[in-house]
Amino acid sequence: MAAADSVLIPQADEISIENARVVIIGAGPVGLFLALKLAKAGVDVLVLEAEGQVSQSPRATTYMPIVLNELDKIGLYEDVLEAGYTNTEGITFRKSHAKGGDVLAQMRMSQVPKGVVKYDFAGIHLGQHILAEIILSHCKKEPKFRIRWGHRYVGSRQGLESDSVKIICVGPVGEKFFSCDYLVGADGAGSAVRRSLCIPFEGFTWSDFRFVAANVKYDFDKYGFATANMVVDEEDWAVIARTGPGNDPWRVAFGVRTDIPESEILKKLPEKFESLFPGPRPLKYELVSANPYWAHQRVAATLKVGKTLLCGDAGHSNNPIGGLGLTTGLLDSAALGNCLIRIFQHNEPADPLLERYAQVRRDTWIKFTNAQSIDFKLRVHSFHPDVEAARNGLFYALNTDPSMHLKMATMMNEITKDEFALPELDGLSPTEAQTTVEDK
Ligand SMILES: Cc1cc2nc3c(=O)[nH]c(=O)nc-3n(C[C@H](O)[C@H](O)[C@H](O)COP(=O)(O)OP(=O)(O)OC[C@H]3O[C@@H](n4cnc5c(N)ncnc54)[C@H](O)[C@@H]3O)c2cc1C
Repeated sequence: MAAADSVLIPQADEISIENARVVIIGAGPVGLFLALKLAKAGVDVLVLEAEGQVSQSPRATTYMPIVLNELDKIGLYEDVLEAGYTNTEGITFRKSHAKGGDVLAQMRMSQVPKGVVKYDFAGIHLGQHILAEIILSHCKKEPKFRIRWGHRYVGSRQGLESDSVKIICVGPVGEKFFSCDYLVGADGAGSAVRRSLCIPFEGFTWSDFRFVAANVKYDFDKYGFATANMVVDEEDWAVIARTGPGNDPWRVAFGVRTDIPESEILKKLPEKFESLFPGPRPLKYELVSANPYWAHQRVAATLKVGKTLLCGDAGHSNNPIGGLGLTTGLLDSAALGNCLIRIFQHNEPADPLLERYAQVRRDTWIKFTNAQSIDFKLRVHSFHPDVEAARNGLFYALNTDPSMHLKMATMMNEITKDEFALPELDGLSPTEAQTTVEDK
């Protein structure tokens, strides 16, 4: 062949493998939070994200005190506080506008004595995408942090030639290979990591309602709405809450019956808003976005297969009423981060720690997040006698028993025992430190 022809035939690609101690699939808030925790502790971490940027879809808006404590430990709290809207009021339960809009009960932070709970407010309201951007900006300051955008995980293999996990992604220029000591699936409820390992996602999908998350600019404030409102109604139930400070839109999350075809759902918005929104007619609002989605109560059969771990929505998914999904996911990241740091920096035996992570976080989701989020959902729309009795009991207590406000604030502030935290990892004094695995 003439020398001139040979330059027309490209060289075969060189297959390169990029290494990291930990590879995290997914740059959602859960994956980024774990990455920050590891990178700050000096662990070499690489995040692979399918999209070209942090997801902008309207999802979580509320972070409860329980998770603010974790944000605080890692230096994120001040930024989140500054960017978000602090709910100093509490939670208002009300009837739908169509049924008169009366306030049924209020959990009032003003009734909680000062200085008794660590965070004397009912949460910070901030779009999840802004939270993720804040975490990412902190990650970028860490030399041990790397991220590859536009890299979609498609599969992994473990332990054939070595102890490491091999990963294949489809990137902007075809297939790319990675290798790590531990692989973490933080790639959301439709997790490709979970699916590629054939881990069943056990539980159910709600078949009574599909959820719609709409972001709307409307002056709810002017009509006496609090920062967080639960509208109780068999059909026109909703959560109406601020997504942030100033001119940020309000989140209006509600349900539509599942027999309504997908193509019709968004056409139902004006009718729904008529039933929900206070104020004069015709209504004048600006619809920023609206997404219908199915809500699940599902948990992965296991959060650990060999050296692959799941956390956040990849491991469990619940309906959004009560705002427990991301809260639980961030607490997973805190626990898994502590385990991996103990393995890498303190040479602790890996398998028992990670098995325990998988068991504890799965059990916590089942006993707490799953049970509570089901209760929260039924509380806003079910008129089953048992649910109605429990709801009436709660409302009666809120309306008549001043100590109820402190009880609820204390519940929201309850700092879960992270048994994986070491005092020096968590900025805690030894007396505050939780029991370690060895103590069990
Ligand atoms: C309407 C709504 C309201 C909610 N409100 C609240 C609330 O107020 N409080 C609360 O605590 N929770 C709330 N939640 C739940 C919360 O949004 C989720 O729990 C949270 O998004 C989970 O975060 P994550 O990082 O685990 O997953 P995700 O946010 O889903 O992030 C997963 C990331 O992985 C990426 N990815 C997916 N597949 C791949 C792949 N194959 N390769 C590479 N990357 C991939 C995705 O692009 C994404 O960036 C709400 C949810 C919804 C839908």
